[in-house]
Amino acid sequence: MTTSCQTSAESKLAKRGEVFMSKDKRNAAGEGVGQPGWNPGSSLPRGGVGRMTSYSKVSTTMPVVAMTFDDGPHPTNTPRLLDMLKQRNIKATFFVVGSNARRYPSIMRRIVAEGHEIGNHTVSHGKMTSMSQSQIRSDLNNANQIIRTACGVTPRTVRPPYGAITSVQKTWIKAEFGFPSILWSVDPEDWKKPGSSVVASRLINGAKPGGILLAHDIHAPTIDAMPRALDGIKAKGYQFVTVTQLIGLEG
Ligand SMILES: [Zn+2]
Repeated sequence: MTTSCQTSAESKLAKRGEVFMSKDKRNAAGEGVGQPGWNPGSSLPRGGVGRMTSYSKVSTTMPVVAMTFDDGPHPTNTPRLLDMLKQRNIKATFFVVGSNARRYPSIMRRIVAEGHEIGNHTVSHGKMTSMSQSQIRSDLNNANQIIRTACGVTPRTVRPPYGAITSVQKTWIKAEFGFPSILWSVDPEDWKKPGSSVVASRLINGAKPGGILLAHDIHAPTIDAMPRALDGIKAKGYQFVTVTQLIGLEG
């Protein structure tokens, strides 16, 4: 049952991939030059990932969601989560804090080796709305550098700590770094430790097409909630994709 749902969603994704591919080819061939957002000859839209400066969900009717985990990596909780994801062949997005990425490079490499995506969640975990442009710039650059050193990957998205960011900040960060700011459509408030079954239910009930689901892989009860949450979301017929894959399906 689950397998056939997954297969059908995967084939839809593959079809969408072809659509995007042919659009790119048209562009590379010179057609559509000047169309906003497209960089001829490149597979990426000009200015980085996605058309928008921020996303709390992606507009699509497909049964896909992105599961995101913030604030790690954590020395025991993240590896436990990675085992659960691997068992289910689910790819997630990790918005890591630079200081933890620097501390646990082997976990960073494991995240990447197992096909998950890494996003920038700053080094200091400061509130961007209380920071100057130059402070944010240097923080994001430092986090990028730490992540590159740890696992060889450069992030393509940012999640502002606490979701605190102004529209002016979203605009210049997109222009300068190419990062859309990734917020969320479902917040189970797992950091308040409401209990694993509550966290799981909130995630399952909140899953809608194009949804971005928030959780924190630094809390043990959040990891305890994951088997039920992931299986429950899958049982609703949803497929898990990474944040940039989700943005690629933008309708
Ligand atoms: Zn955070």
